[in-house]
Amino acid sequence: MTARSAAGQPVGAARGAPGDRRRESRSKRASRPAPADSAALTSDAMRAALVASEPRAAADLGAIRIVRAPGRVNLIGEHTDYNLGLVLPAAIDLEIRIAFVPTDDRRVELVSSATGDRARFDLDAIGPRRRAWIDYVAGTAWALAEAGIAMRGLRGILVSSLPTASGLSSSAALELAAAWALADTPGGNIPPLSLARICQRAENAYVGVNCGLMDQFASACGVTGDAVLLDCRSLEFRPVALPLATHCLVVIHTGSTRSLTTSQYNLRRAQCEAAAAALAAENPAIESLRDVTPAMLPRVRALVGDAEFRRCRHVVSENGRVAETIDALAAGDLDAVGRLWAASHASLRDDFEVVSPELDALVEIATTVPGVAAARMTGAGFGGCTINLVARDAVDALRDAVAAEYPTRTGLAPRVYVVDAVAGAGFLAG
Ligand code: ADP
Ligand code: MG
Repeated sequence: MTARSAAGQPVGAARGAPGDRRRESRSKRASRPAPADSAALTSDAMRAALVASEPRAAADLGAIRIVRAPGRVNLIGEHTDYNLGLVLPAAIDLEIRIAFVPTDDRRVELVSSATGDRARFDLDAIGPRRRAWIDYVAGTAWALAEAGIAMRGLRGILVSSLPTASGLSSSAALELAAAWALADTPGGNIPPLSLARICQRAENAYVGVNCGLMDQFASACGVTGDAVLLDCRSLEFRPVALPLATHCLVVIHTGSTRSLTTSQYNLRRAQCEAAAAALAAENPAIESLRDVTPAMLPRVRALVGDAEFRRCRHVVSENGRVAETIDALAAGDLDAVGRLWAASHASLRDDFEVVSPELDALVEIATTVPGVAAARMTGAGFGGCTINLVARDAVDALRDAVAAEYPTRTGLAPRVYVVDAVAGAGFLAG
C-alpha cells in the first residue's frame, strides 16, 4: 500500500518520490541536485547515459567502469565523532555512482546527471576550491595526490539516489565515489579506513567543512546487513548485527531545508572544544570530550558557561548511550534500544540544541505507532532525517501515520525510505 499525503502525493516507497520534490520551492530545486530513481543507477542505464554524454570517449563499451559509494544513516552517536567518541552508522542503499572511462590526459570531466552540470579540472593543476559540487571531487584528487596515490584522468557521469544536504552524507559518498574513480589501482590499494581519512581531509582542508570521520568511514567501511561501530579515538571498528529478520531501518526525511548548518555546526564544535580545553587546563590527560566521564560533569559546570556545559553533557552521555545500545542489540532488548534512542533525541534537543520542530514532530508521530521500536533524529540536525527501527509488519502503519499527521502539522511533505545496510564503496559488481 502506498500512503498519500494530504496533498495526494505519495509518501510511500519513495526512492526520492518525485511528487514530493514538486512541492519544493523553485530556489531549492535549482540549488540542489535531485536524487534519481533507482532505475537510473543500474549498470545499463549508467552506461547508456555515459555514451550519450561522452559519445567519443565511451565508444568502447568494454572500457566503461562503474563505482558506487553509499550514503549512511547514523543509528546513534551524534556529534560524537569530532569529540573522538563512539558512533554507530550503517551504510545504506541510497548511493552515488559514477560511470566513467579512464583517460591518459590528466583531465577529469564529470557531468552530474541531476542538473546536467558539466565540471572539469586538471589533475596537475587542481587549483583552489570553486564553491561548487566539483569541489568534493577536486578536493578528493588533491588529498589523494597529497597521500601519494597515483590517479588517472576520466570522463564520467555521476548519478545519485541519495538526497543531498539531508544528513545522509551525500558529500562523503561523493568523495568516496570520486576516490574509487580517480585512483589508478582499486581503492588506491590502501585499507578502506585510510581512504576514508583521505576523503575526510578533502572535506576538511579543501572544501572547508570541519566534519569528523564518521561519514567517510561509513561510506568506505560499510558492511552488508550490519551497522558498524567506530571508536573515533582508537579508530577500531567492528560490525554490529541488527535485528533485520524482524525489523527494518526506515529513514524519514522532514522535507525541510537545513538552515544555518555550517555556522551552527562550527559553533557546536567550538563549544565542545572550549569545554575540553577548560578541563585540560586542570588535567592535561584530557585531550578531548572523549576523556570526560559523567563523574567530571559537576566540575565542567563550574568551569564553563551553561551552553558549553550542556554541549559537553550531551557528548558524554551520548557515548554512554552508544555503548548501551550495542549491549541492548546484542541482548535483543529492543525496548532498551527504544529508550536509548529517545534519550539521545531528547539530549540532542535540550542539551545540544540541533533538533528542529519538524524532526521532533516526526519522532513524536513515530512513537505513537505500535511496532516502532526506536526513533530519533539522525545526522547533524537542523532539518534532515529521522531514523526508525520498525517491525516489518508495522512499516505501512508508520507510513500512514506520518502521511496523516506530518503535513498538517508542518506544511511539509515527508519522504519515507526503507533502507538496507550495504557494503562500503567500490566497483559495481556485474
Ligand atoms: P550531506 O552530506 O548531509 O548530504 P552536505 O552539505 O555535507 O550534506 O553535502 C551536500 C553537497 O554535496 C551538495 O551541496 C553538493 O555540493 C554535493 N553533492 C551531493 N550529491 C551530489 C550530486 N548527486 N551531484 C552533485 N553534487 C552533489
Ligand atoms: Mg556531508
